[in-house]
Amino acid sequence: MSLIHVLSDETINRIAAGEVVERPANVVKELVENAIDSGADAITVEIKDGGISMIRVTDNGSGISREDIPKAFLRHATSKIEDSTDLLAIRSLGFRGEALSSIAAVCQVELMTKSKDSVIGTRYVIEGSKEIETKDVGVPSGTTIIVKNIFFNTPARRKFLKSPITEGGYIADLLEHLALANPDISFKFISGSDVKFHTSGNGDKKELIYRLFGKDAASNLVKLETEKDGLKLEGYLGKPELNRSTRNYENYFVNGRYVKNDVISSAVEEGYREYLMQHRFPFFVLYIEMDPKDVDVNVHPAKMEVRFKDNVYMSDYISSAVASKLKVTEMIPETVLVKEEEPKPSVSTVEPFEEKRISKDISAGSLDIRRILGESVPGKEPYPEAPEVTHEHNVIKASDAIIVNTSVQMELFDDKLLSRDAVAEYEIVGQIFETYWLFTYKDKLIMMDQHAAHEKVKYESLLAQMKNKDVVKQMISPAIVITLSPTELSVLNDYKQNFTDIGFEIEEFGGSDISLRAIPMDLYGQSPKELFLNILDELGNGRISGVPEAINDKLASMACKSAVKGNTPMSAPEIKELLAKLLTLDNPYNCPHGRPTMITMSKSELEKRFKRIV
Ligand code: ADP
Ligand code: MG
Repeated sequence: MSLIHVLSDETINRIAAGEVVERPANVVKELVENAIDSGADAITVEIKDGGISMIRVTDNGSGISREDIPKAFLRHATSKIEDSTDLLAIRSLGFRGEALSSIAAVCQVELMTKSKDSVIGTRYVIEGSKEIETKDVGVPSGTTIIVKNIFFNTPARRKFLKSPITEGGYIADLLEHLALANPDISFKFISGSDVKFHTSGNGDKKELIYRLFGKDAASNLVKLETEKDGLKLEGYLGKPELNRSTRNYENYFVNGRYVKNDVISSAVEEGYREYLMQHRFPFFVLYIEMDPKDVDVNVHPAKMEVRFKDNVYMSDYISSAVASKLKVTEMIPETVLVKEEEPKPSVSTVEPFEEKRISKDISAGSLDIRRILGESVPGKEPYPEAPEVTHEHNVIKASDAIIVNTSVQMELFDDKLLSRDAVAEYEIVGQIFETYWLFTYKDKLIMMDQHAAHEKVKYESLLAQMKNKDVVKQMISPAIVITLSPTELSVLNDYKQNFTDIGFEIEEFGGSDISLRAIPMDLYGQSPKELFLNILDELGNGRISGVPEAINDKLASMACKSAVKGNTPMSAPEIKELLAKLLTLDNPYNCPHGRPTMITMSKSELEKRFKRIV
């Protein structure tokens, strides 16, 4: 008796589906990528119960002709490549031809589509790989796919789905990224009966950020644009105040694809290092364009990983671009206690089966995000209140709100608070809580954290000394003998030059003992042995890494951290001197660990607080 069976197509499809469809978000990803590949410039996604009971994706793209429909649902059927030589030149998002067959194997699917040159469209129904119906239907050009009851025929897999809220969250996150990756496509996302977001597709990236993340994010951005040897960075860096507790708001795209990559994340975080506290992450949207030869995007199509030819180059390029951009932007947090009324943006609407229709007044070019955000635009009034336009909600997860509090940052390029001239006019009010100094300047109250300012000045002076190869040392007499483990010894060996560069003098005896003869000057307030071992630990566990200069930088910031004691009384002349030193620095506004050195409050804020003005 024969024991070997040839599996039916249905079974094969169901097995294969396991690799493509694990949860509703996978279905949405495949359908939306197909819509993008079809040339659509408006895509509407609607889900019910987190996509578990229903997903509908409508696009205004090429549509599918009647005779191609059954083929589209066959495994390994694709219009995007013909043979393996095409693989090298893939521009489309999909090409494996597995998505529709996999989705149809485990869901109930209804397709309505019409290609531009057909007069009549087609409705096609397929459930669990079984064709149910094909018939004429009058629809506009484009495609709508409705996917119902995921895993209706594989209940065991349905059990692995999470709650509708969680599944819906995955979809929202995915669509945010697809919308950011495609600024020229209008995306509308509806969950249940709520429009979660609606992007205009007019290509304006700042406006896109506004639509997806709201006004607070959009009004606290620094534009980054730089190019070198065909490597192009473009996008928006959130000001440090937009910091988050997770990496979820680090958005980056390589050649138009949303990816995940440690090299990029770490490099941008490194650029922000001076501005953010530990365990806080920046908000940014960064588009990287590079020669496809220097990047492999197909490491794993579903996992969105990329690999670069030269990680070190990428990392240095990105982190220095970010750091230097942040440095030229003045960022003193200003305490604002009263929230402004949010302006109502106008939004274009694309319903299922509608060609992209954007009415005259809100057509692509004329919607100016600067005016929405209340920024002044020469010769233009802010947008008038327009009751007839709809205001739609942006997806903002309240639990993870963008802004820590209601403070905003001011840009005072014309009126720098820390110019030499300005500081000469500062009036010292006094010190409070043995830590903060109060000054007034014009109509601002300025509060300076003595500890953070001190730390910053020390750090910058150590950096300057290192740069000039003239580090002032403090000799330790008698030298401190320390016994190291074999691992610690090898770490010391690897980073010996860095220790020397920042002002350590270390003598080795060939065994496991070393002696510490000098440490960087000025680092009083901590035990030399503790400082040395802390640095060794950080280097050993890889938390400090990079090119030698970057390592020196980080070591200097570590060394300065505990070098200044808080609550040290300082006299007014001393504080003036500290301020004078501070204002010679490139970035006086944050201590090396990201805490602000000063914050301000305006007179009008105080007056609002006291209800003198409303
Ligand atoms: P792939 O995208 O890898 O080619 P799919 O299974 O996702 O494979 O889709 C199969 C084919 O169906 C595509 O190659 C394309 O020709 C067609 N197709 C799918 N979705 C759409 C759509 N929204 N608009 C136009 N054509 C589509
Ligand atoms: Mg596809």
